[in-house]
Amino acid sequence: MAKSASSVDWLNRVFGDSKYSDLTIECGESTWHVHRVVICAQSPFFDKACSNGFKETSSKLIKLEDDDPTIVREMLRYLYTGDYLEQTKEGEEGSRRSALSTNVHIHTIADKYDIPALGDVAISKFSARAAREWKTEAFAGAIEEMYTSANENKEPMHKAAVAIAAENAKTLLNDDCGQAFRKIAEAVPKFAAELSIEIVNMKEKMPPTFARYRCPNSMRCNKVNMLEGLGQASGSRTCTYCSNQYYVNVWVSKKLDD
Ligand SMILES: [Zn+2]
Repeated sequence: MAKSASSVDWLNRVFGDSKYSDLTIECGESTWHVHRVVICAQSPFFDKACSNGFKETSSKLIKLEDDDPTIVREMLRYLYTGDYLEQTKEGEEGSRRSALSTNVHIHTIADKYDIPALGDVAISKFSARAAREWKTEAFAGAIEEMYTSANENKEPMHKAAVAIAAENAKTLLNDDCGQAFRKIAEAVPKFAAELSIEIVNMKEKMPPTFARYRCPNSMRCNKVNMLEGLGQASGSRTCTYCSNQYYVNVWVSKKLDD
């Protein structure tokens, strides 16, 4: 959301200010006095709740029963400021939710209340952070959450996680730091399947590798050719210099370097 600096300033001040508030949102123990013009303009869900014949219309109160108050708060912060905080405290136990996990929850609530722009912000924040934190247990935890959440449109979030996991698969699948990751891959077959597909697709997308091969016609030519991908190739190749043809396995025996 490209909001100008000045609009962010005054919206920031208005967020949490009950003056002129015309709508109350309740979740758990938390209450927010908000402004319909801000909330309803960005969320068809809240727009409907405020304009239809729901009981919310007269009471000007919307109760969100099944949500996490810290995530609702960040959703509201986004609606006022165009951004949210990734690091939030988990409910009553005070245990800390990882920032990666917060992004997953934000993406789910954005889908629930029909705020696609917030969902996009959550994906880009998730990707940026996961690119730095893919070795952590938090990355594994976030993957588990996104594959088990009630979010109906979680495919883009899956793609973001799978892309980063595939890029670092060699380490995650072999090294100590990947222990938590491997547990999740075992526990969530859909993730393991999507990861495998992504790794295969990545291999196909890789640019061809060239290597140097000396012409097997050592008496008359012996020149060095640059040939592409002979590792898994079949058939024969022609020397650029003497035009002799040799089978791939003959060329491979004349390979100069790895
Ligand atoms: Zn040759």
